[in-house]
Amino acid sequence: LLLVLVRQNGTTTWVQQRPPQGDARTQEYALCRMLYTMLCGVTGIRPPWGMMTGVRPVRIIHDLRAEGKTEEEIEQRFLQHFDCTPRRFAMAKSIADLQRPVLERAQPMDCSVYAGIPFCPSRCSYCSFVSRTVGDKSSRALVAPYVDCLCKELAATRAAADAAHLSIKTLYIGGGTPTSVNAQQLRQLMGTMAEQFDLPALEEFTVEAGRPDCTDEEKLRIIKEYGATRISINPQTFSDEVLRNIGRRHTAQDILDCYR
Ligand code: SF4
Repeated sequence: LLLVLVRQNGTTTWVQQRPPQGDARTQEYALCRMLYTMLCGVTGIRPPWGMMTGVRPVRIIHDLRAEGKTEEEIEQRFLQHFDCTPRRFAMAKSIADLQRPVLERAQPMDCSVYAGIPFCPSRCSYCSFVSRTVGDKSSRALVAPYVDCLCKELAATRAAADAAHLSIKTLYIGGGTPTSVNAQQLRQLMGTMAEQFDLPALEEFTVEAGRPDCTDEEKLRIIKEYGATRISINPQTFSDEVLRNIGRRHTAQDILDCYR
């Protein structure tokens, strides 16, 4: 029996149903659907992305296309299976369409190199990424040895890619928050990337520079000086209330001011 109980203000509401025929995934979906429907009713909120979880809805469109699903079937999956709103589906689809030619151009030996900086100025409440808050002296002391090791690993990665005859097409420095390192450490990292990889041969070189509480003009200049072709500004939201509630120590206006 599938059973969902919700207790709110001392009142318990519950629904139950027999498990549907099918594999574990079918049964998991049935349980999620029961919980979602019940929580929508109890809270009066219907989330724009419906039952979807995770951070890459666009990926689902690519995967379904690769499975041979029609555009109509994909739309139905979003609207009916996930209860996503038509507006959000249209947004995800437009991004998937934009990415499609890039994916179709990719060759079997193409690869991308990702360098992760697992530090952030503060921890967002929803975050599931590997990241350590840096602020006091002891946490800051972790950054320099980490950047030293990362630079060595990037050199080894380049050698391994060459030995395997891989063609490096894109570089990405993400996190965490890459700009949480200081300007000197950022210069060391970017300098190593520029030295180790054939930048003119790349299709894209991205650095995440999305938190205005640790991004400044000097760091943006270093990113540009060492050949990055794109920065990813990921403020998450322009609602000050949400920024406050998730633990971001900046406002929406700070985001705009940072990149002026
Ligand atoms: S900035 Fe990104 S990685 Fe850092 S805590 Fe927030 S969501 Fe997580």
